[in-house]
Amino acid sequence: MDLELLIDLHKEGERQGPGSTELTSIAINMASLTKCNQRLQILDVGVGTGASTLQLAKSLNAEILAIDLSTVFLKILGEKARSQGLSEKISTRACSMDDLPFSEDNFDVIWAEGSIYNMGFSNGVEYLKRFLKPSGIMAVSEVIWLTTDRPAEIDEFWQNEYPEIASPSRKIGILEEQGFVLKGYFPFPKSAWWDNYYQPLQGRCDEFLSKYQSEAAKQLIAAVNMEIELYEKYYCYYSYGFFIAQKV
Ligand code: SAM
Repeated sequence: MDLELLIDLHKEGERQGPGSTELTSIAINMASLTKCNQRLQILDVGVGTGASTLQLAKSLNAEILAIDLSTVFLKILGEKARSQGLSEKISTRACSMDDLPFSEDNFDVIWAEGSIYNMGFSNGVEYLKRFLKPSGIMAVSEVIWLTTDRPAEIDEFWQNEYPEIASPSRKIGILEEQGFVLKGYFPFPKSAWWDNYYQPLQGRCDEFLSKYQSEAAKQLIAAVNMEIELYEKYYCYYSYGFFIAQKV
């Protein structure tokens, strides 16, 4: 996979994965973060162009450190933060979420929308929790099965793409094994995938293909189209879930 092409395809998107302003707000409320009086220290992980970061900054009395591997995405987030008057609350740093340059017990909240899969859910929770203060909040969105049975085609696709896809109860079990208490969970509606992610992404494909006429670009768009077709066919069987948990 050509990373530069991938970033170029996604950088104009408001989001780089399923989600919405409303869903981030619900998760903020489930975490009871609006009730906190002190200025929260938040680490937002794998932010892309920062839809979650901007929403957290608008909603909370907080200092948010947004990290991502991509400097291109972070630059766009920095520009959005400036134009929306949120620079004072948001700083960015290019680094890998599996090699964080922070001391332990550092943050009140770790936020990871659609990014913990980069480390795998289990590994990610185990690694990231050390940077949370006692009683800190971990909020993660992650792909989940919605049913116990499913057609072989979609099962095989996800076993190839991300074998850690599992039921919400399995994800909650992992959080509990890692010393968290669940504060809330909800599955994403179809609009979070379709209206906010796949439709805008599809709308950028033609322009992308006229800009890059390489084989790699064609393959990337073919993979995007296949993923979207599978979603249209099988959206009843999988979605993202938001998990909000407190470190005990
Ligand atoms: N949170 C954003 C959203 O919901 O729109 C982006 C989600 S996107 C599916 C995953 C993000 O993780 C990308 O921005 C990608 O650059 C970033 N990423 C991938 N590997 C990473 C790593 N090892 N450390 C930090 N970020 C990473």
